[in-house]
Amino acid sequence: MTGYYSSPFSRRHSVGVDVGGVLVGGGAPVVVQSMTNTDTADIDQTVAQVAALARAGSEIVRITVDRDESAAAVPRIRERLDRLGIDVPLVGDFHYIGHQLLADHPGCAEALAKYRINPGNVGFKEKKDRQFGEIVEMAIRYGKPVRIGVNWGSLDQALLTRLMDENQERGSPLTAVQVMHEAIVQSALLSAEMAEQIGLPRDRIILSAKVSGVQDLVAVYTELARRSDHSLHLGLTEAGMGSKGIVASSAAIGILLQQGIGDTIRISLTPEPGGDRTREVQVAQELLQTMGFRQFVPIVAACPGCGRTTSTVFQELAQNIQEDIRRNMPVWREKYPGVEELKVAVMGCIVNGPGESKHADIGISLPGTGETPTAPVFIDGRKAATLRGPAIADEFQKMVADYIERRFGG
Ligand code: SF4
Repeated sequence: MTGYYSSPFSRRHSVGVDVGGVLVGGGAPVVVQSMTNTDTADIDQTVAQVAALARAGSEIVRITVDRDESAAAVPRIRERLDRLGIDVPLVGDFHYIGHQLLADHPGCAEALAKYRINPGNVGFKEKKDRQFGEIVEMAIRYGKPVRIGVNWGSLDQALLTRLMDENQERGSPLTAVQVMHEAIVQSALLSAEMAEQIGLPRDRIILSAKVSGVQDLVAVYTELARRSDHSLHLGLTEAGMGSKGIVASSAAIGILLQQGIGDTIRISLTPEPGGDRTREVQVAQELLQTMGFRQFVPIVAACPGCGRTTSTVFQELAQNIQEDIRRNMPVWREKYPGVEELKVAVMGCIVNGPGESKHADIGISLPGTGETPTAPVFIDGRKAATLRGPAIADEFQKMVADYIERRFGG
């Protein structure tokens, strides 16, 4: 796993947690994770989606375990993935009856690399602590870590009511929203404390506290980070569809990462009908790479285009190269170690074309309006060729392939 962290802020210290061989926190690179949306009892579909997410770069994949049929399917899903050579750790997402499912399905308890517990719906009233404790004991027995995942859609109502009452008794120094934030933070911290008292070591506990507003997420995680050294899983819940979800998640998670907060991230995107689930992995990788924290795939720098561009050749070329890279990365990672450091530039005219191309490992400056119909290609900062004619795009793609082979092919 390559990774670097060049934030101007130092990274928050967190206790590292081993999730099926993937280190979360403890100074490890920020881990990308995702979640399936298949019925886990449907083994074929779930295996296919986990495999797709893992191949796209998800380093941990969470699956829903909501009933006996899905719990029974988990060990079979694990076996099928192992046979495919996909060793991505699987996390079981439990709500309401997780304690029963883990007790009744030892194969499931064993096959999962981590259990996610939601303290807001693990049980009600007097049953709550007992059922929470049973899951924690199961994690201790099987040597698994847990994520204590608070979500404000299913916040512990008894805790919230108590904090509201206390705030009122003190003359309401906090707003209702601030009380809500405090309840979310306390729910996570008190649950972690309880898990530790039962005997789960600190290096097997990850915390998350998901909300759906950007400013709420920043406020809650900033406080959580200040009051604990547990590894933190970041994610904006119900982020929304399309660009809204991407922008909201990137803004919220980006602000926290920039402050050194966050050890693993999930970008939750509401899938569009027929949409590709791996999109959330791609967005998470692009966020980390854009911010300079990790490198996953070569960067293709392309100008936005303007009135100086004569055709769509340069946009098509940039898109083809980007798609080519994404398609080939699973093979290239093995074949060309270090290829993720490659930077390609595809520029639309002479204004910024040669300059940007020189900054890249390999770049092309296509001719804009009124320019000589030639396209200089720069390799390692020097002009290496001038392409002309209708096959410029194909020739440049060939030059990129040759460059990769020469530089990374060993
Ligand atoms: Fe426009 Fe040229 Fe700048 Fe691209 S490089 S945005 S075509 S001026």
